[in-house]
Amino acid sequence: MATTTEADLRDEVRAWARESWDPSLSLVAWRERLVEAGWAVPSWPARWYGRDLPAWADAVVHDEIRRAGAVASVPSGLAGPTILEQGPDATRERFLRPLLTGEEVWCQLFSEPAAGSDLAGLTTTAVLDGDEWVVNGQKVWNTSAHHADLGMLLARTDWDAPKHQGITYFVLPMHQPGVEVRPLRQMNHHASFNEVFLTEARIPRGWVVGEVGQGWSAALATLAHERRFGAIGQTNLDGVDPGPALDEARAEAAESAKVYSWYPQRAGRADLVADHARSAGAADDAHVRQEVARTVAMNRAARWTADRATAARATGQPPGPEGSIGKLALSDVARQAARTHSAVAGAHGMLAGDDPHSPLDGVLAEILVSVPAQSIAGGTDEIQRNIVGERSLGLPREPDPTKGLPYRDARNR
Ligand SMILES: Cc1cc2nc3c(=O)[nH]c(=O)nc-3n(C[C@H](O)[C@H](O)[C@H](O)COP(=O)(O)OP(=O)(O)OC[C@H]3O[C@@H](n4cnc5c(N)ncnc54)[C@H](O)[C@@H]3O)c2cc1C
Repeated sequence: MATTTEADLRDEVRAWARESWDPSLSLVAWRERLVEAGWAVPSWPARWYGRDLPAWADAVVHDEIRRAGAVASVPSGLAGPTILEQGPDATRERFLRPLLTGEEVWCQLFSEPAAGSDLAGLTTTAVLDGDEWVVNGQKVWNTSAHHADLGMLLARTDWDAPKHQGITYFVLPMHQPGVEVRPLRQMNHHASFNEVFLTEARIPRGWVVGEVGQGWSAALATLAHERRFGAIGQTNLDGVDPGPALDEARAEAAESAKVYSWYPQRAGRADLVADHARSAGAADDAHVRQEVARTVAMNRAARWTADRATAARATGQPPGPEGSIGKLALSDVARQAARTHSAVAGAHGMLAGDDPHSPLDGVLAEILVSVPAQSIAGGTDEIQRNIVGERSLGLPREPDPTKGLPYRDARNR
């Protein structure tokens, strides 16, 4: 890994951005420059569009690019790090670059109606037919599937292997007749995820992440990144120089906002509780004060846990239990914040939309119906506790009487 100090790195990026940023470029052309120079994800290997820098460099470079008045790089999401880690090279070659330039948008096709927490119980099936895999089955809760170009798809390729061994991780082209995407309307009125029906859908033979039949370990890599990812932030384009790149970045952010605009609410909006109590005239109420203090304290402690995890990653330590612990902490903070907002607003908290009596202009009602998603997406609280118990504390694993049986037989037990 290359070494550099933060100050040197900032100088280098600043000088590069001064030379290279041109607001009259198209967004893709600008991102190509970032990728070409290794600044899109500088912690990635130099061979794969990075600079072999430590993990902390990503945030520093991102910050300097923004300070230069330029559009920052597109987040590498879940597909990027998974493909980088799992390969093979042909898959890295084909998919990493357009992912980093934002030319190809991804979605995650893991969950099925009867396989969520028990993800390895999936039954979507892929069969090799000449140079293509033919896929049949159904996926559900797939965020962004309605506008994605490619899907990270888990499918069973060997029914005679044990449950976790007959799964392959594919890249599915979404724009084809065999893929039907139906949006699902949520109780908070947004429609950010979908059902995806796969009927004789086709995948080129080599569009595999990891190895055929070894998809479970690639899936675990994606899930580990998802736990660490947390809520997706809003893209900040303040201060970017006007021009085509900014216009296109705005349009891209608007599309993404349609999907993720409620994510801050799903995290409970702990940042708003103190102001909410003050503006509602409830700050002198002893019970409310106690709840506000509890929310702020829990939120800060959760941030420190996240900071410790970031620091551990920056020094190159392998991922530990902090992903699950951090995700559990976010669920607790979200629930506590919703409880505090409710204590402040009382029954008015149920008023949604632009009713003049809706607390926080209707945002509170959205918080109350969005917070449950925090403890489900990316693995439920119960599943995170199982992971911590079994993998970190060494507690006995859940018994599985079907262990080792061909999945064809195990499934019917
Ligand atoms: C906002 C959001 C976005 C999502 N985006 C995607 C996406 O892009 N792609 C995708 O594939 N999926 C996505 N999901 C689906 C998500 O991964 C699943 O909802 C989740 O894994 C839980 O599965 P399930 O809904 O089938 O619930 P189930 O697995 O049926 O769980 C039901 C209940 O049983 C409990 N339970 C189950 N097994 C155990 C056990 N062994 N021990 C203790 N308790 C247990 C669970 O904790 C839960 O309370 C998303 C979900 C949400 C809420």
